[in-house]
Amino acid sequence: MILPHSSNSLMQHLLRAAPELLSACERVALKSGPWPVSDGQDDDSLYFPETGLLALSLPAPGTRSWTPRSARLALLGCHGVWSPRQALNSDFLAEVLVPGDAMRVAESVVRSVDVPLAKWWMQVAASKQHLIHQMARMALCAHKHSPAQTLASCLLMAQFNSAARPLPMPMVALRDWLGWPPDAWQSAWDALDSQGAVVQVGQGATANIQIQALDTLTGLACACHPMVGLDGADKGSRDRCTGHNGPAQ
Ligand SMILES: [Zn+2]
Repeated sequence: MILPHSSNSLMQHLLRAAPELLSACERVALKSGPWPVSDGQDDDSLYFPETGLLALSLPAPGTRSWTPRSARLALLGCHGVWSPRQALNSDFLAEVLVPGDAMRVAESVVRSVDVPLAKWWMQVAASKQHLIHQMARMALCAHKHSPAQTLASCLLMAQFNSAARPLPMPMVALRDWLGWPPDAWQSAWDALDSQGAVVQVGQGATANIQIQALDTLTGLACACHPMVGLDGADKGSRDRCTGHNGPAQ
């Protein structure tokens, strides 16, 4: 049987176990900004990003509103699944940092298939643990390492979680997401740019960051990157998503 292709590793595993679910999947656009727009209470959809990246944050205690930007951040892309329901996502809030698309399927449909999916649900739980690990590690990174190191780690983390090559990272969105003072952003950017690790493509609000030299960027990153990027993912996806088959062109 020829299995349908998905660039989301969890969706790949799901369709391998239950190919009949493909007919229940639909492709939806991930558009920039807070996402999904509904409050999630009645939405049992599971979203598997194919391209694009979701940025996750924790709301202030007792609220469902955005906190001031903090280091409590994580990225979810081609190795993850997002549910608007709090049970699966530990009360994270999501916004689309890099536009793209996702496959959507109802959780009730996944639970109704007549094949055992216990192993797959374990993989979903592992991906959720990975997000919590990312968030803890990035919080530590913000305190311990320079903005340039943190920015390098963040871009590598984005590349790891993105199926798109080259990684299209909107510059303004990333700067706003990190929430640094302008001088901290500028010094971090200059450090990476002057070494040829990254390049700005376009100008103003539509400017994108592209990774120009993966090895150089890796050399500029702190030890946090391997800890938030590489562990917790399977080997095949790791090769695909760390650029071993061809980094930024
Ligand atoms: Zn760090």
